[in-house]
Amino acid sequence: MREILLIKNGELALKGLNRSTFEDTLIRHIRRSLKPLGEVKIRKAQSAIYIEPQSEFFDYDEAAGRISRIFGIAAFSRAAVCEKDMGDIMETAAAFLAPRMEEIATFKVEAKRADKRFALTSPEICRELGGSLLNRFPHLRVDVHNPDETVTVEIRDFGAYIHCGQLPGAGGMPVGTAGKASILISGGIDSPVAAWMMAKRGINLDAVHFASPPYTSQRAELKVMDLLRQVAQYSGPIKLEIVPFTEIQEQIGEHCPEEYFTLIMRRFMMEIAERLARRGGSLALITGESVGQVASQTMKALCVTDEMVHMPVFRPLIGMDKSEIIALSRKIETFSISTLPYEDCCTVFTPKHPRTRPDSEKVREAEKSLDRESLIQRALEGVRSVLIE
Ligand code: ATP
Ligand code: MG
Repeated sequence: MREILLIKNGELALKGLNRSTFEDTLIRHIRRSLKPLGEVKIRKAQSAIYIEPQSEFFDYDEAAGRISRIFGIAAFSRAAVCEKDMGDIMETAAAFLAPRMEEIATFKVEAKRADKRFALTSPEICRELGGSLLNRFPHLRVDVHNPDETVTVEIRDFGAYIHCGQLPGAGGMPVGTAGKASILISGGIDSPVAAWMMAKRGINLDAVHFASPPYTSQRAELKVMDLLRQVAQYSGPIKLEIVPFTEIQEQIGEHCPEEYFTLIMRRFMMEIAERLARRGGSLALITGESVGQVASQTMKALCVTDEMVHMPVFRPLIGMDKSEIIALSRKIETFSISTLPYEDCCTVFTPKHPRTRPDSEKVREAEKSLDRESLIQRALEGVRSVLIE
């Protein structure tokens, strides 16, 4: 029996004239993601995309896993291909649907007859196929109002398809339809989730990580790369820039009041990230901050941090509880990587009593003892770039 994957694109249906660009982007992602599994033929037709594997050894389970991680897909199903002939439709349906039919008590049949030359009308198709399924699976009953399962038959110009049951897609919009933004990625739980959430809205990602060797280790950097590799399963390839941050942190530690360490450090991070973002064509920064999670994430502290940035800062986790963030990180499978115990540069110079309601005047005063510009220049000169895919 030949099978295809049938994809329903979600919000794409709403996008009017942009729709075909959105669909083309989605199809590019599908092609890239399924490429290692062998050749596939892809067709668009009325808010659905048909993927026809060309090899008989195609791994449908692996393909379904990959498709469930592509943004822009609301739901998808596996469908059996048959001749446009009622005899073949009934035979194929019985074989293809058998495992599911054994699990349920009631069903109904829906027919979509796009090929108007097909001899039977939609109600006739439903009656014939329904009757044949009742014969084959005598425990079943038809329930048109509240069936356990709906069996769909589609008669299209290029073939007939049978499917039932939909698998959930990743939702969102195809990556690349919304421009690019730069995620400030630490090795923690939050920032990979923030990255994933913005990629879900169609945003392409670059990433910036601040490393402070020897206070932070090579292992910590590898952990960040592992996290991004997991995010890249959804977002596509991510360019990571690693910024040497040791000198800046040491200078802050030496010259600034301890209560402002974290805040001043975060202002440096934002400023450097923005410069890298502009160079790389990103239109916004993304962070994993959430109001009140730590001292540097009170509203006042976020305001003081944002004074250094002139592009929008997206904080998709801003109103979420830690437990909600953790649930998402488990779902996208970054949690087990994030919880490996390697130090982040934020944890190296942590003040005992950070200011939770910092005064921006005083922070600026405290920064005066630093030569900000040359510190930033030296950090930028040491940036290393890695492509994560
Ligand atoms: P996370 O779990 O993502 O590390 P967090 O709750 O530990 O977040 P902070 O350490 O205060 O919070 O960092 C807040 C945000 O600042 C992070 O979500 C991330 O976007 C950014 N950030 C923190 N440390 C770094 C770093 N070393 N490199 C790049 N960005 C960082
Ligand atoms: Mg952190």
